[in-house]
Amino acid sequence: MQNTAEYYCAYCGEPNLTFIDFSAGGDQSYVEDCQICCRPNILYIHIDEESLDIEISSEYEG
Ligand SMILES: [Zn+2]
Repeated sequence: MQNTAEYYCAYCGEPNLTFIDFSAGGDQSYVEDCQICCRPNILYIHIDEESLDIEISSEYEG
């Protein structure tokens, strides 16, 4: 099972990888610092229950 997913930083637009904890449920949100510019992105994770496809949207914090 894939447990990493890619999102694009809301600040610099660079791709980042984040680890997905499937046991935390199908809808999750948390803050993660961009690995490129170190600014905080709010990530909204949605995991499809059947296909386990992962969707991530990122937003500026604050
Ligand atoms: Zn960034």
